[in-house]
Amino acid sequence: MNIQFLGGAREVGRSAILVNDSLLLDYGMLTGNPPQYPVGDVDPDAVVVTHGHLDHVGLLPSLLSRDDWPPIHWTPPTYELTRLLARDTLKLHGGSYDCPFTGAEIKRLTQVSEPHGYREPFEAAGHEITFFNAGHIPGSAHVLVDDGETRLLYTGDFHTGDQRLLSGTTARPDADIVLCESTYSDVDRGDRAATERQFAESVETTVWEGGTVVVPAFAIGRTQEMLMVCEAHDIDCYVDGMGTQVTRMLRQQSEFVRDPDALQRAVSNARFVTGKNGQRKRIARKNTVIVTTSGMLTGGPAMTYIPEIRANPVNKIAMTGYQVEGTPGRDLLEHGRGEIDGRVMPVSAQVESYDFSAHADRDGLLSFLDSYRDAAVLVNHGDRCDAFAEELGADGYDADAPELGSRYEIAGDGATTRV
Ligand SMILES: [Zn+2]
Repeated sequence: MNIQFLGGAREVGRSAILVNDSLLLDYGMLTGNPPQYPVGDVDPDAVVVTHGHLDHVGLLPSLLSRDDWPPIHWTPPTYELTRLLARDTLKLHGGSYDCPFTGAEIKRLTQVSEPHGYREPFEAAGHEITFFNAGHIPGSAHVLVDDGETRLLYTGDFHTGDQRLLSGTTARPDADIVLCESTYSDVDRGDRAATERQFAESVETTVWEGGTVVVPAFAIGRTQEMLMVCEAHDIDCYVDGMGTQVTRMLRQQSEFVRDPDALQRAVSNARFVTGKNGQRKRIARKNTVIVTTSGMLTGGPAMTYIPEIRANPVNKIAMTGYQVEGTPGRDLLEHGRGEIDGRVMPVSAQVESYDFSAHADRDGLLSFLDSYRDAAVLVNHGDRCDAFAEELGADGYDADAPELGSRYEIAGDGATTRV
């Protein structure tokens, strides 16, 4: 087997791995200004996709601009999320470098789509492929690739811990080589239940004091998780932004969530915002909780809510995930001011941050990899891939951190050579 790293190597974003020059695993973009795309020109026979986040699926429609369209294999939620994200990219950036595909190519996704469930082996470009639940977002999968000689396990993004929306990954299929994400390889996260309690108490306090709480949340996974947290703690809330569409979609894909009844209760507990007729400004004046995109305050209905609530120190902004450097969310946390909708605004409202991450932390990564002490390990998708690979090496693993564009030859027993 040979593997080439076209993206996501020693970086987060634009994941793309080519196996045996024929099978493409993920095809994402690195969002930013300007966005970055995987390196090289790729013309795969088939594509297999781990999960519906932009950094893994953002560029898929661009593979459908030629005459021969490769089939795309994924779980049903990943298909739905990819279409949703592609339509959003087209709406925001259509006709510019930031959107290297058109509406016609988005429509073709449906024609090439090959949906599969977990643990149902299928064939793609001459390889046997099996998906296993990765516990990251609904539909997320570890991908096992068997070319008849070598078994490669590509973890994709995964979580070993339980969330309300999803159970953590328990699948540890046999493999000769593991390509493992390492996003939070230096983070030791506290107890999830304690984080949830602190969040709930803080939000309730603000509501009792007569304030408004804005909860910025990523559309996929996090919005639904926060609705479930609110319901579990008897907190009434509104929900707004792209997360409302994802929530509706997930109700049709109930076998991909941990507890469909709990999700249904959370949906019933939340009031869905349409945004018509100044509804958002009216809600922002209410003594309530608003779960809304975007998670890092880079856009979405949060751009309406934050200016409305920012001046009153009784109000609160409760972040629910990691804030990338340079985003308004990060600036608000660190400096109490941030650029909201093109205007730098000071914020008197309280700003707090809670770690509801959907990725394994250091302990989670190590416990996962403990099942693969006899396999070769290649580390990708992280800011410190090389450091983590070195730490694994010191712990007895055969580990390496591929560089962008690099190519590896893997023997049947997992022996790995960079070529
Ligand atoms: Zn992800």
